Amino acid sequence: GSAKLQEALQKELGKQGLDKEILLVQTGCHGMCEAGPIMVVYPEGTFYTHVKPEDAAEIVEEHLLKGRVVQRLLHKEDLTAEAVAHYKELPFYSKQMRITLRNCGYINPDNIDEYIGRDGYQGLAKVLQDLSRDDVINEMKTSGLRGRGGGGFPTGMKWEFCKKSPGDKKFVICNADEGDPGAFMDRSLLEGDPHAILEGMAIGAYAMGADEGYIYCRAEYPLAIKRLHQAIAQAEEYGLLGKNIMGTDFSFEIHVKEGAGAFVCGEETALMASIEGQRGMPRPRPPFPANKGLWEKPSNINNVETWANVAQIILHGGAWYASVGTEKSKGTKVFALTGKVKNTGLVEVPMGTTIREVVFEIGGGILNDKKFKAVQIGGPSGGCLTEEHLDLPISYESLTAAGAIMGSGGLVVVDEDTCMVDVAKFFLEFTQAESCGKCVPCREGTKKMLDILTRITEGKGQEGDIEKLQYLGTQIKDASLCGLGQTAPNPVLTTIRYFRHEYEAHIKDKK
Ligand code: SF4
Repeated sequence: GSAKLQEALQKELGKQGLDKEILLVQTGCHGMCEAGPIMVVYPEGTFYTHVKPEDAAEIVEEHLLKGRVVQRLLHKEDLTAEAVAHYKELPFYSKQMRITLRNCGYINPDNIDEYIGRDGYQGLAKVLQDLSRDDVINEMKTSGLRGRGGGGFPTGMKWEFCKKSPGDKKFVICNADEGDPGAFMDRSLLEGDPHAILEGMAIGAYAMGADEGYIYCRAEYPLAIKRLHQAIAQAEEYGLLGKNIMGTDFSFEIHVKEGAGAFVCGEETALMASIEGQRGMPRPRPPFPANKGLWEKPSNINNVETWANVAQIILHGGAWYASVGTEKSKGTKVFALTGKVKNTGLVEVPMGTTIREVVFEIGGGILNDKKFKAVQIGGPSGGCLTEEHLDLPISYESLTAAGAIMGSGGLVVVDEDTCMVDVAKFFLEFTQAESCGKCVPCREGTKKMLDILTRITEGKGQEGDIEKLQYLGTQIKDASLCGLGQTAPNPVLTTIRYFRHEYEAHIKDKK
């Protein structure tokens, strides 16, 4: 509804003769999806939520002309405060630390000047003016940034492998094939701040010695693709991409490749096969992409969120970034907070923040004041965590130890009314349908697991079914070729681990 609202506001501003005085700016996502369409009035930072085109006249008349806040459009958290807050003071925002999302909801992503006005391309300028390729890699190593796509591999080390790999032609790739159900952080970044990704890739290309890059973006994200093409054209026009960037001998061009909807193409070797025009199927590693990647040339793949961190790290220093987070998990992480929680949306928090803080302080607690039951973290490859994990500081290590994974950052909140066997079945149905079929454990094993889960949920479960699920799950994890199969059983295994009684109840109560 935002486009219609913008139109209505522009019309009202015109009617009141304010269209020259007041700038109406379309931005990317603000993060608080539950409250959209959102509008912020600056400089006071008044946060209006669920705004409709028919509210435009009142906002212009009351707020912009008479300086009176339209109370009924304030967010519920604002209404309980004594005075109207700047939106950054609302609990949803005040507990966050926005590094990658810093421009989302703030600048007009269609306008490169607004990105430049927020230190945009300063990181690239610093690199080209003052830093050697090794300096850049050392800075990335100091930062402790790890791959935000799920793997968690140290970014600086990955770049170093690619830099050291012999070859005069190298590629850098951005994995924007975000496909986890409930995850939309990459989409928001691409739509809300596309230049941050381009700048990060250019810095990476300089460090690794690449002159060509690809952004592999799922075709289901048409606005992201449109904004990327536009941002690339603007950056080229400004001499920030293309030949002899900023008058130096560094040249770098970026292409956008649209994915065709297969989840497995988010796996790096399948993704590269797809760019090459082949069927998107994973292949065994080694060789790793740093040695033999796209068209057999040394290549480096990072995901959208990882690239979006790069320019800020270069600008403010690796030590600054490493000062945020836990001992082994540095910086911030973006989570897509969905499910039975009051404030659904995108949140960015320092590593080490607890699940309780995310769900209850930022998320505002459970919808309809029901009881918290679990969070499914890490999407279909992840696992569920229970009440006993609420005070767990979020990090790669802590989540793995608890049987879940960071994954790309999907965080689905589950309340007391939700059946955990259904949750596990939902995710397994997804991964089973997305299995590319190349290897038997994943292709046949997940199908068998799904058959058993289906009969359990239909009240036809048999004694020994839980053990069969555990056995199959463990075998599939061990024997599958790629990450999809290696993680597909996780939701089933963790729900059995923490909610075995729900499986047993289904089997006991069979028809
Ligand atoms: Fe394909 Fe699954 Fe094997 Fe991966 S694990 S290669 S998705 S069949």
